[in-house]
Order: sequence, then structure tokens, then C-alpha cells
Amino acid sequence: MELIQIGTNTYYLKNNTNIGIYKVNDTDIYLIDTGNDSDAGKKILKVVQEQNWTVKGIINTHSHADHIGGNKIIQARTNADIFANSLEGAYINDPILEPSMLYSAYPLKDLQNKFTMAEKSQVTKNLTALPAGLEVISLSGHSPQMIGIKTSDDIYFLGDSLISLLTINKYHVFYIYNVNEFLNTLDYLATLKGKLFIPSHTEAYQDIHELINLNRNKVNEICDNILKICKEPLSFEVILQKLFDHYNLHFNLLQYSLVGSTLKAYLNYLYTTNKLTYICENNQILWTIPN
Ligand SMILES: [Zn+2]
Repeated sequence: MELIQIGTNTYYLKNNTNIGIYKVNDTDIYLIDTGNDSDAGKKILKVVQEQNWTVKGIINTHSHADHIGGNKIIQARTNADIFANSLEGAYINDPILEPSMLYSAYPLKDLQNKFTMAEKSQVTKNLTALPAGLEVISLSGHSPQMIGIKTSDDIYFLGDSLISLLTINKYHVFYIYNVNEFLNTLDYLATLKGKLFIPSHTEAYQDIHELINLNRNKVNEICDNILKICKEPLSFEVILQKLFDHYNLHFNLLQYSLVGSTLKAYLNYLYTTNKLTYICENNQILWTIPN
């Protein structure tokens, strides 16, 4: 993990999930997310030790396992507070909720692994209790109540509100919980003015407008493809199969769960905007274009 200073008080650790760091004085720091797992947590603690810093708090942008995976070990070793809002906090306190949501029942054991279920840690503070110099922005859509953090150096940590170019081109159907809110968040991001913007899974950007457009275009493309697929009434499973075929996606239980959950978010968005409707036929729910 490479430590990069990007403002008077703001740093980040370049990582497969970037870790934000905000210094409130000579020694005390707040982390923004903690990476994939306890290994990531240990690497963060090593950097913290080398700098003679003390972790006062962890701010989680959202509760996905690759953002909270280092929480447990860092909290155990530093007694740091964990800051999150109510809904994301529920998942951090009880990580079984994450695979439960993906499976919509008690999850298969195959879905209870570090990619979908972090180790348990304990949220201790509300986001309103953050120290001066840090501002919370709402970035919901990718997850129910995702947030971003703006630091006093005019630097924005954006969580997963902007998906990387690499992921867009490789996976196409990136994870979304609420498509309408995801799109609203993209519009909001386009209004922000700052020195540097740091999405969690790609490099830092001075200008995010092109990346915003790529995200929006891909969402619109997927909407169009679902509408094309639904020219004839089809069940969720068949639409999902056709989406996997269209984008040549690798099919396994995890991808089925993630892309399937995301397809449900798209179906809801298209239903709410009156572009799709459903019928109950032969004991199936079939999605189709309204008359
Ligand atoms: Zn995420």
C-alpha cells in the first residue's frame, strides 16, 4: 500500500479499495474505509505505525465487505470508533445481512465468504459526530445509504458512486441497489467542485465528468438492452440468462447473485418509470413492455 499525501491533512493509501486518511492533528487520524479483509487491515496498521499515527476513527462509506473488511482488526487493536449511518451500520454490525439480501433468505454457505460477508465490527458513532474538517455527502444508489466524505483540503472520497472504466468495460452490469438514486447521485457528482476526487477502485481524478458520463451511458445501455430482451414476456431467470449471454459474463453463484440483484434494481427502475410491467401467468412473473 502506497501512502500518498494529497492535501495538508489528507492522504490516501493506494489499494484495490483505496483508503482515505484525514489527520486532525500531528498524530490522530481518521480512516475512510478499511479494505477487503484483515490482511488489508494489517497493512493499514503497518503504515499507521510507521508514521507514528493513532487511528481515532473509521468512517465507512458503505457496508460492502471490500470496504469494511479491515474494520474488525483495526478496531480491536486501536479501539477506534466506527462511524456509519443507520442502515449501512446495521450491515456492519451484523454482516450476515449482506449475503441474506443477495439470497433473500438465510444465505447458502457458498455465499458466506469474505467477498460478501466481512467480519463483524461495531459501529460506535453516528456520522453527525465526525470531527471538524470532514463533511458527509449522500451518495446513495450503489448501496442503500452510501456516503462520500469531503475533507477541508477540498478532496472528495467517493466510495463506489463512480465505477471504474476497467470494471465498466469488463463486467458491464456493475452492482447497483437503486438505479434511480444511482443516476441522481451521478447528476449530483457533476455539480461538485473540488481539488481531487477519489473513487474507491480506481485512480484519483481532477475532473470526473468523463467518468460520470461513462457510468451514466452504461446504465442507459443496460436499460435499453433489458427493454429489447423484454419484447416478449419473460421471467427474471430468462432475462438474467440473456443479459449474461449478451455481455459474455462469467456465470457462477456469486455473479448470479450480484448481477441478479442488480437486474432486480433495473426491473424496479423500468417498472417505476412505466417502461416495463409484469404479468402473472402460469405461476410465473413475466416482465414485459406495457400496452
Ligand atoms: Zn460497494
